[in-house]
Amino acid sequence: MRLVVLGVGNAFSADWYSSCYAIVAGEEWILFDCPHPIRKIVQEGSRGAGVPLPFERLRGVFLSHLHADHVSGLEGLAYYFAYVLGKKLPLLTHRDIGASLWNCTLAGGMEWSRSQTDLKPVRRNFDDFFATTWLDEATPTAVGPFRVECRQTLHNIPTIAGRIHAGGKCIGLSADTAFDPALIDWLAACDLIVHEAGGPFLHTPLEKLATLPESIRRKMRITHYRDDFDVANSPVAALRQGQAIEV
Ligand SMILES: [Zn+2]
Repeated sequence: MRLVVLGVGNAFSADWYSSCYAIVAGEEWILFDCPHPIRKIVQEGSRGAGVPLPFERLRGVFLSHLHADHVSGLEGLAYYFAYVLGKKLPLLTHRDIGASLWNCTLAGGMEWSRSQTDLKPVRRNFDDFFATTWLDEATPTAVGPFRVECRQTLHNIPTIAGRIHAGGKCIGLSADTAFDPALIDWLAACDLIVHEAGGPFLHTPLEKLATLPESIRRKMRITHYRDDFDVANSPVAALRQGQAIEV
């Protein structure tokens, strides 16, 4: 299994794409979060890491929550799937997140369409564009070669962390969260832990992660950081945009 680091920035970054990742097993992959401009982000990450990421082999977009720096690419990617690939975009998320996704985030740009100027607009709905697999915290979900688990985090709006398994390995991703020792425990068994370090205000201060046991820190990589963050001297190793990590 491989992690391709597509973006590492927080919501205010001018240097990096918003944090998002490809999790790859064989030729299949899952996209973890979907900021705009996602097709450019994926193309650059794929070329930089030397890992093919064809959208025809995308098994799902794991959507952690609805803040724009995680979801702003979803409309464009769903349209790309509908009108270029001719299929629905596979989506993996929790019902608490899906409950607001169409009405509060996507409908403004996707609900109405007309095929010609002299025809009346036609109303579309969420299921016209998305093939959704609902994740729940009680049961792992099989998605192609992957097994996907989720867990609620401590954030402003409903948000899920993920554990994604394939080939006997596991990558854990915190998504956005305040520092949460119970979440760290949940991620601790993973072979690689991607944890945000976005600072205060329902994010995790790096100083908190630096206090974790060495056994956790050694397999943890931080992300969702500020432009002025000192990557080279971080007490917990930081992901770099464009890298690929074998797990
Ligand atoms: Zn957020």
